[in-house]
Amino acid sequence: MRTLKTELAYLRDTYAFTSSSSDDVSTVLDVLKKTKKKTNDDDDDDESCYSYCYEIVLDKTIAYPAGGGQPSDVGTMILIDTNTRWMFDFDEVRMDKETKQVLHRGTFRRRKEDEDDDVFDVDEMKGKTCSIEIDENVRMAHAKMHTAGHLLDVAVARVPGLEKLVATKGSHGVADAYVEYKGNARTFSGIEDDDEKLIRLMNEHLEKLIEQNDVVKAEYLAYEDAKRACGGSLPSYVSPDAEEAPRVVTVAGYGCPCGGTHVKSSKELKRVTAVGFRVKKGQTRIRYKVDI
Ligand SMILES: [Zn+2]
Repeated sequence: MRTLKTELAYLRDTYAFTSSSSDDVSTVLDVLKKTKKKTNDDDDDDESCYSYCYEIVLDKTIAYPAGGGQPSDVGTMILIDTNTRWMFDFDEVRMDKETKQVLHRGTFRRRKEDEDDDVFDVDEMKGKTCSIEIDENVRMAHAKMHTAGHLLDVAVARVPGLEKLVATKGSHGVADAYVEYKGNARTFSGIEDDDEKLIRLMNEHLEKLIEQNDVVKAEYLAYEDAKRACGGSLPSYVSPDAEEAPRVVTVAGYGCPCGGTHVKSSKELKRVTAVGFRVKKGQTRIRYKVDI
């Protein structure tokens, strides 16, 4: 049987932090009981000595599942039961690659006024609707970090010789942000023994790019158009036969296939700095930070 995949509503609007309007609410497709943690040393058979965490699958979500180097959103779901309302705090969101369903992992919390309610039956939640509130600060920090990763890409390619570097992966967490490239930045640039100079050149371009205040575009393009927008080729994981058209994010005229959330313009980033790089096994990893 084919499972229903989750509609990725976060792709429509980075700045949608709540989904409370009636056409935006989600429906619970499934509630999965996960690990059991013992909360005190009493009787092993007593169920009240355990706490569980759950994973909730929704038909659509505004919460970003970790992926593409961008960490997941965190937030709260308000489950709208027929009799009462429950909160569900999630701190991890992930995409099941096979089913394309998004799972929100966390714990249930009873609203204060509902304290006398009967014990909660998770199975009853299936088919019920819920609204979502994501943590705005976390979302914006991740959107800025991710957009800055794209901007770094553009700045790097503007340093003579470094246009030959090919981005292979990135990490856009606030504490550990970098973009990794195939190729040796020192050899390609011809600046073999002055890493500080290379970093300075990258940062000069980053500063100019932010000043330019370019609009960040995210659009679905036909495969051939996407190829053109991304400099003539697309990575192999973007298939021309895919059900959905590739989503291309363009920053400062430089397109890249991407499923992340981004800010509207480069000026929102205030300051992005390349802070260092290392070359290992023919790969250059450039670390960066953003003033958030
Ligand atoms: Zn991206």
